[in-house]
Amino acid sequence: MQFENTLAFAKKLDAKDPLRKYRQEFHFPKINGKDVIYFTGNSLGLQPKRTKNYVDEVMKDWAELAVEGHFYAKKPWWDYHERLAEPLAKVVGAKAKEISVMNTLTVNLHLLMVSFYRPSTKRYKIICEEKAFPSDQYMLQSQARFHGLNPNDTIFEVKKRSGEHFWRTEDIIEKINEVGEELALVLIGGVNYYNGQVMDMETITKAGKAVGANVGWDLAHGVGNVELKLHDWNADFAAWCSYKYMNSGPGNASGIFVHERYLGRKDIPRFEGWWGTKKETRFLMRPEFEPMENADAWQLSNAPILSVAPYLASLELFEEVGMPMLIEKRNAIVAYLEFVLKEIDAEVAESTFEIITPKDRGCQLSVFLHGQGKPLFNYLMENGVITDWREPNVIRLAPAPFYCSFEDMYRFGQILKEGILNK
Ligand SMILES: *Cc1c(COP(=O)(O)O)cnc(C)c1O
Repeated sequence: MQFENTLAFAKKLDAKDPLRKYRQEFHFPKINGKDVIYFTGNSLGLQPKRTKNYVDEVMKDWAELAVEGHFYAKKPWWDYHERLAEPLAKVVGAKAKEISVMNTLTVNLHLLMVSFYRPSTKRYKIICEEKAFPSDQYMLQSQARFHGLNPNDTIFEVKKRSGEHFWRTEDIIEKINEVGEELALVLIGGVNYYNGQVMDMETITKAGKAVGANVGWDLAHGVGNVELKLHDWNADFAAWCSYKYMNSGPGNASGIFVHERYLGRKDIPRFEGWWGTKKETRFLMRPEFEPMENADAWQLSNAPILSVAPYLASLELFEEVGMPMLIEKRNAIVAYLEFVLKEIDAEVAESTFEIITPKDRGCQLSVFLHGQGKPLFNYLMENGVITDWREPNVIRLAPAPFYCSFEDMYRFGQILKEGILNK
């Protein structure tokens, strides 16, 4: 389609957008009395209006039923989290039994490392991407030290080539083959938080499995954003947070995937707690742990209902719309944003910015601002554009398909242009 950088054209795209009514399903913050242009759905998604009903329901049941709410609430709390598995499985391409919702992301990665990072004297090395999200780096380093290993001899980062802003799949595969029999684990962010690159998860998983390693994915930026087929790709495990593209609220519950081949097994090393033992016998309070037949075996505590309830509300929206529709809108709106950026760049004479996100992308465009810096970022924020800043000089723009409009992209372009011309 031939795009135009005009308000009329953007409105035309909105009019044709089958998801346009979902914008009304979300609360938008206001700046200068107007709804913001929200580009940080990759950091904290907007609040769905229906979420409050889910939380209110729990508060009401708690007030009226107290402890009896565990079994007699409208959605009983003792198995409340199970309601999330089915819809979430569709989002990540898994079987419902491979999914559980619990804790938060870094906590879950540590718990999954207990099961899937079992270093031996021969096979102990870990491959991850260069400059992984800091929490993932701390997690991996502390895991290596916990096993008595020196992180510097244990963790191998795949680098980008000099002068390039993205990872090449062939470089990752080469590193996997090079480490070979010493490779215990590949753990990479499926969608990179910084440049927005979508990794070739299928190919990388296959290569890791081929040398006998376990392969896990951090899907913080992948879930609710890109097509995932965790089961078919044969990943061993994955974890994600729910507050980015999944709009479940600050710091809210995380999801895990454990491949079916590990389910129902007692011989798997795992940190265990009473919510992972079989429901049928859980309240007999027996000393022996009988793992749930599904990924809930990794649950430790009774579920934090007030954190899970907003996630259920959000999943209802994903159920209604489905990932294929979201991805279609995502592709269109990101393409339009890219077009607008290039138009503005051409209009303001000197070349001012560079999109560093490669063609394998989801919702996010990362833009390197040449010689612009913080003042331009501040100008955007003051004028109702919420985006974020990453050192040294990058703004990340993620127009979440659920609630961002094509008109937002056009208006953003105009504000950006003013910001550059007024500097
Ligand atoms: C957002 C993000 C996290 C956040 O971890 P929490 O434990 O939820 O604070 C971790 N890893 C990656 C790759 C992220 O993008």
